Amino acid sequence: MKLTDFATGAQYIGGRAVPGTGMEPFDVVNPADGSTVEQVRLASTADVDDAVAAATAALPEWSAASPATRSAALLKLSAILDQHAADFAAVETAQTGKPIKLSTEFDVPGTVDNAAFFAGAARQLEGKAAAEYSGDHTSYVRREAIGVIGSIAPWNYPLQMAAWKVLPAVAAGNTVVLKPAELTPLTSLMFARACTAAGLPDGVVNVVTGAGRGAGEHLVSHPGVAMVSFTGSTPVGKRVAELATATVKRIHLELGGKAPFVVFDDADLSAAVQGVVAAALINAGQDCTAATRAYVQRRHYDDFVAGVAELFAAVRLGDPRNPRTDLGPLVSFAHRDRVAGFVERARAQGATVVTGGARGAVGHDGTDLTRGAYYLPTLITGAPQHSEVVQGEIFGPVLVVLPFDSDEEGLRLANDTPYGLAASAWTRDVHRSLRATRELAAGCVWINDHIPIVSEMPHGGFRASGYGKDMSQYSLDEYTQVKHVMYDTTAVARKDWHRTVFGDRAGVV
Ligand code: NAD
Repeated sequence: MKLTDFATGAQYIGGRAVPGTGMEPFDVVNPADGSTVEQVRLASTADVDDAVAAATAALPEWSAASPATRSAALLKLSAILDQHAADFAAVETAQTGKPIKLSTEFDVPGTVDNAAFFAGAARQLEGKAAAEYSGDHTSYVRREAIGVIGSIAPWNYPLQMAAWKVLPAVAAGNTVVLKPAELTPLTSLMFARACTAAGLPDGVVNVVTGAGRGAGEHLVSHPGVAMVSFTGSTPVGKRVAELATATVKRIHLELGGKAPFVVFDDADLSAAVQGVVAAALINAGQDCTAATRAYVQRRHYDDFVAGVAELFAAVRLGDPRNPRTDLGPLVSFAHRDRVAGFVERARAQGATVVTGGARGAVGHDGTDLTRGAYYLPTLITGAPQHSEVVQGEIFGPVLVVLPFDSDEEGLRLANDTPYGLAASAWTRDVHRSLRATRELAAGCVWINDHIPIVSEMPHGGFRASGYGKDMSQYSLDEYTQVKHVMYDTTAVARKDWHRTVFGDRAGVV
């Protein structure tokens, strides 16, 4: 079985790859050197209609399939993803520019594990236990599939985002039309093929590779779609919510982040320095939970800045296919320029660019960095709390470090952006750490680490980072609706409560 046959078409509808009817060509570009990985034709709105029709047709059989049947298909999917791990990693790296060691050791095994997790979770769906709450009825709760899910994903972790969108939805008996980001459609198409190979019936997982404003808005507004699940930026998430509200769809939004990294003065400084470098530069900072703002208690501040600057300078930029490369290019030249713009404006406003702030010249392996969308790890100090680099989502390898004095001030500054996706606190004091976990306003709080995720635990934001959870049993709540079923237990024609509408209580004259 070949998952990488992209020539047959860039739409995956009803269990097969098709060219679709869209005529607009789109180059999937390797940002490491600007070469074309594949040329695809973007989906038309008619292709979206076809995909929704296929998902609608597949729904009755799939939603009625036994949990064991759904579980078996997902378990097989996990095995197929694992068998094709090297292909998935290579294509993911080609279309995003992420280092092959990240694709190989994080993106792909994470997806294999997600599929295995949801194979198990599919058999754990349950409603609450039954009881006679009114005295005259037995009540119970059913958890039912919602219907056709329209999912929209971003470009930073294309395979993982496809998996996060599709797996809980189909585990719960829904069918899906997924629109990956137009920049990075290839591993989502491979994922859909793998779903078919694993035995998911035709039409359960469909992929339309189109533009946001065309195919994306059509999918979100489509009357045949019962729920919209969106991962992407906060401004687009607001637009998606507006459109989805017009047809009263259920909405799940995983949006932007600006994660704080709070270092208290009793922290293990070397662990915090190592930790922030990894957490700021993972996926070249194109990670919604990446550490972007480090708040460091005054005693550690100078040493922390010096330590991070030293490690940033040692990071190996180069060909992302080279297993020794730490940092590849950003996802596109346009995005690299956007990131550079944040840094230039901060510099112009008086902030200090301690290291980085440029595109780089030659990589550790001799790669000509000027041919790709590279940007050096960049450390900024002296930016005011309310400046753009501290408040806005840069989504690049840029870390801002700011000092604080009291614990209260550190936690207040950490919470002082509109976002609330993730945060970490670094301390060896149990009371400080407990206080941080209570007070940091984010959907995930790490203590003495920052980034790790696991299939069993929920991922999702507070505030402008959206609502709803990915992964874990909690994601199944998003993709199911609760039905209350009430059985009469009295078997009498004139029930006691009828008196509130007509007649009197029995025995009253
Ligand atoms: P984006 O919002 O630009 O695009 C996301 C997706 O929405 C793409 O598929 C795009 O084609 C589509 N889209 C764009 N305009 C649309 C419209 N008007 N209607 C419907 N769909 C539309 O985001 P991006 O640049 O691809 O990804 C980066 C963003 O994603 C960052 O903000 C990041 O924080 C966020 N993100 C969040 C999470 C999370 O779990 N919270 C995870 C990954 C990425």
